[in-house]
Amino acid sequence: MNFLPIFMNIKSQPCLVVGGGEVAARKVFLLLRARGEVTVVSPELCNELTHWFQAGDIQHVAREFEEADIDGKQIVIAATDNEAVNQQVSSLCKARGIPVNVVDNPKLCGFIMPSIIDRSPVQIAISTSGASPVLARLLRARLETIIPSAYGRLAMMVEEFRERVKARFKGNDIRLFWENILQGPIAEMLLAGKDHEAREALADAVANGAAPDNRGEVYLVGAGPGDPDLLTFRALRLMQQADVVVYDRLVTAPILDLVRRDAEFIYAGKAKDKHTIPQENINSLLVRLAKEGKKVLRLKGGDPFIFGRGGEEIETLMAEGVAFQVVPGITAAAGCASYAGIPLTHRDYVQSCMFVTGHLKDGTINLNWKALAQPHQTVVFYMGLHGVAEICKQLKAHGLDSSTPAALVEQGTTQNQKVHIGNLDTLPKLVANGDIKPPTLIIVGEVVKLHEKLAWFDPGGEQVAEYPNLENINR
Ligand code: SAH
Repeated sequence: MNFLPIFMNIKSQPCLVVGGGEVAARKVFLLLRARGEVTVVSPELCNELTHWFQAGDIQHVAREFEEADIDGKQIVIAATDNEAVNQQVSSLCKARGIPVNVVDNPKLCGFIMPSIIDRSPVQIAISTSGASPVLARLLRARLETIIPSAYGRLAMMVEEFRERVKARFKGNDIRLFWENILQGPIAEMLLAGKDHEAREALADAVANGAAPDNRGEVYLVGAGPGDPDLLTFRALRLMQQADVVVYDRLVTAPILDLVRRDAEFIYAGKAKDKHTIPQENINSLLVRLAKEGKKVLRLKGGDPFIFGRGGEEIETLMAEGVAFQVVPGITAAAGCASYAGIPLTHRDYVQSCMFVTGHLKDGTINLNWKALAQPHQTVVFYMGLHGVAEICKQLKAHGLDSSTPAALVEQGTTQNQKVHIGNLDTLPKLVANGDIKPPTLIIVGEVVKLHEKLAWFDPGGEQVAEYPNLENINR
């Protein structure tokens, strides 16, 4: 170990930064965050430092560095582009036992500054002892994604209760109590944004002398349109702590691969006209599993509240008193439009966008066609593959020109994505003649023209089985 990691309290302590450029500004920013009293010595200041100086956040000595500048300083950072000055600052500080950092020059440093993940009061510092700052930054980016941003709030709640817990428990029991709390439902409540509920439960737990048992809970999670990279951090975290996953037909195989390996997998999708599990049964299945004490991941394609029946599912959970949380996902319209290079709104073409269901029932689609067939708007049809001829016919009958551009996006955002472009006259034929595989989304409006210019996603690889195979579904 070349360096000893320590966290230093510099609150209200005099700190010196030599240099007035952008690199110096980055260091000043950190010193200010730790509430140090910062003086900058430099003939000139960059914009950011000038701004802080004018706001009274820092002192400025407008000249070259002099030896006496380090008098009484708690720490010193040299960030000039003059090698000789950096060298001088380093040796003067070392001779007087003042911790010194010279930016990007570990040899001249008494201390080095790590890459930081800040979830104050939780802080994680990463260092490669100066060997590769880039590697430290890459590591940091990885860790940032797996450490929930609410960890700071979690630590603050623990701090509030520390004394009470110390007074209630003895020795080893204090540690055990906190281990149970931090890995149990109370921490999960806080991470899900139920701060009041978490504090009340923690107060009860201290009063009762025990952390509550793990209880069952349902995570209603949007898995996005298909590409696993479009998952949210929270979705991924909950996917990795679920005991059982109840998933839809629209959740792609690469996404299922990210669910905790030893979770139980239950397929609850619906093939067209083939209801595998009726909706009421899905609702009661979720309730039953949660009441068995399991962490139930209800994983849905896209966003659970957009044509996803998420509302119905949580109504039942609420009625049954089952704890749940809802995690939004990227809905198919947003995902498919981005990956097809079709902006859903555009200043030059449209002012609004509608999401509607094109689901055929008895050969018709019950929609307000007049409202849909308006100029300057984009209409996105979910579940519209079988109704495409009817959709185009109705839009024309209600006033849209037959040359209005229309696109059908097949398996959007996946490696199998295909975009079929036509207009209200040609799209039904394109669909009838093509070997088109669901899921598909239909986009109607002038913005579809932009595809020609803006298309960028071109998976080009082999066609792969993106969606779970209905024949051997329960694994
Ligand atoms: N809750 C989902 C929508 C469920 S309805 C969401 O927010 O996206 C199912 C319809 O979504 C499908 O019939 C299809 O129209 C659309 N869809 C979902 N994923 C899709 C994808 N990858 N490509 C194209 N359409 C998709």
